[in-house]
Order: sequence, then structure tokens, then C-alpha cells
Amino acid sequence: MSNLTSITQCTELNNGIKMPWLGLGVYKTQEGAQVEQAIADALEAGYRSIDTAAAYGNEEGVGRAIAASGLKREELFITTKVWNSNQGYESTLKAFEESRRKLQLDVIDLYLVHWPVAGKYKDTYRALEKLYKDGHVRAIGVSNFLIPHLEDLLGSCEVVPAVNQVEFQPFLTQPELQSYCKDRNIQLEAWSPLLQGHLDVPLLQEIGHKHGKSAAQVILRWDLQNGIVTIPKSVTKNRIIENADIFNFELTSGEMEAIDGLNENRRLGPDPMNFNF
Ligand code: NAD
Repeated sequence: MSNLTSITQCTELNNGIKMPWLGLGVYKTQEGAQVEQAIADALEAGYRSIDTAAAYGNEEGVGRAIAASGLKREELFITTKVWNSNQGYESTLKAFEESRRKLQLDVIDLYLVHWPVAGKYKDTYRALEKLYKDGHVRAIGVSNFLIPHLEDLLGSCEVVPAVNQVEFQPFLTQPELQSYCKDRNIQLEAWSPLLQGHLDVPLLQEIGHKHGKSAAQVILRWDLQNGIVTIPKSVTKNRIIENADIFNFELTSGEMEAIDGLNENRRLGPDPMNFNF
């Protein structure tokens, strides 16, 4: 995907729904004034996609920021996720109602299973299918699903997940998962794209210098050119603007390969094959 020249550009999900390539992540953004201001700044900078989750504890603030924005509902793309303790069929339906109420939205654009909780994620996903068929969500998907989880789910689900949101950053590029999802038309989405702020990586800085861009901008552009939706988090206005200023330069194929070459299968977050929350 090298032809991305505007923040308004979207990927088309496997059900035809359009999702912006760039969104604002709000994990660890405080409920209240902080999340409301971050979203106001992001919308002003042109972002139209927000990634929250029940577990982030800020859905109400996200809802207030959306309501205050004055933007038409159809201009925005809102993602939220069902938390692990609410997994299971009935409890997911209930959790969804809670998220929808907090966000002050009738319809959620993308609803995700947050983690593949063993013994539960298939029932959880069945509830998502019900919400999708009833028109309460425009697309459904998963998060933190590795190939074994996807194999298991695809063996029995009716609606192929539209999105898989996983940790994806220069030290964890998961090439097999990338091609697995691409082959099945599941859009990969990167969480912690900015290495959680640990951007002191010489190669990224060198490439950035050549383009007059920061290491953060280089990574985000690399995501886009790899065909991966990306949702950097910041609560600082100038960084929110900086992270969106990635549609006016292009990495060469050599630079793309060099960044791909940083992969060390190194996670910053929990391992989806072995987590206990
Ligand atoms: P991130 O990689 O986006 O890093 C965010 C941090 O990077 C910020 O707190 C700030 O310290 C720094 N930063 C941001 N912009 C910068 C810039 N331009 N220059 C220098 N430093 C900068 O980390 P994240 O928040 O973990 O991930 C992004 C989003 O992904 C989250 O907010 C959330 O929406 C989502 N996420 C999802 C899951 C999941 O399990 N599905 C897990 C983690 C995160």
C-alpha cells in the first residue's frame, strides 16, 4: 500500500465496510478531561477512527468527545472490545449493551474479542455474530489471535473476522500471521505500533532523517505500506498531529526491507499463547 496520500483513506474490510488506515488508540488515556481532549485534538488533526475497549475504562469519555465533536456519526469509525471477564455468549451480549450505552452509540463500527480466552472465545464470538446479524455492529473481529486461535475459530464460525488487532511493531512483525490473515482477507491492525514510546532505534532515526520525519512517523508509514491498520496512542497534541503527518512521504522498498529486518519476535506485551488474565 504505497498510494496512501490522505488521512481520510480507508481499507475495505471483508464485508465491504470502510475502516480508516490510521486511528487514535486510547489505552491508558484517563477517563474524563484527558480522553476528551485527546479525541478533540485528534479529530481536529483529521483522525476519524478511535480505538477503545471496555477494559480501558474510558468509554464514557470517548462517548462525550464524539457527542461534542459535531461530526456526523457516519464520518466516525469507533472500535471497542469485550473484556476477558465478560466472555461467554450471554455475558458478551450484556457487556456490549454496557459499552454501547457508555459510548452513547446505537451502532458500533467494530467490536472485537479482546483476548482469546481459552474455552470461551468461541461463545464470545458467537455473540458478536448475533450482534452483527442484528445490525448492532458494522463489523466484528478479534484481537490477540494467533494462527492456532484463528484456525480453531474459522473451523466453526459463520462470519469470518474482519479484523485481527495484534501487537505489531518493528521487533515483532509476525510474517506468518501477516500472510495467514492476508490470505483469508482478515485485516491486520497494529497495537503498540510505536514501541510504547521506546523509539530510540538508530535505523528508524536514520531513515527518518532522510525524509525529514521522526522515528514514530517512519514506523507508522511502514505499517501503512505493509497494508496494516495502525492506532498510535498519544495524549499530547503535537504528537497526535505528528503521528498523522505520514501521508506525504514514501519509504523505498529498501527502507521497508531494512525495517522488516529488525524483527526479533520480541514482544512488549503479553503472549497470546500464554496469558492469565
Ligand atoms: P504505542 O506504541 O502507540 O505508544 C504510545 C506511547 O508512545 C505514548 O504513550 C507516548 O509515550 C509515545 N508516543 C506517542 N507518539 C509519539 C511521538 N510522536 N513521538 C514520541 N513518542 C510518542 O502504545 P499503545 O498505547 O500500547 O498502543 C496503541 C493502541 O493500541 C492503544 O492505545 C490501544 O488502543 C491499542 N492496544 C490494544 C491492545 C489489545 O490487546 N488489543 C493492547 C495494547 C494496545
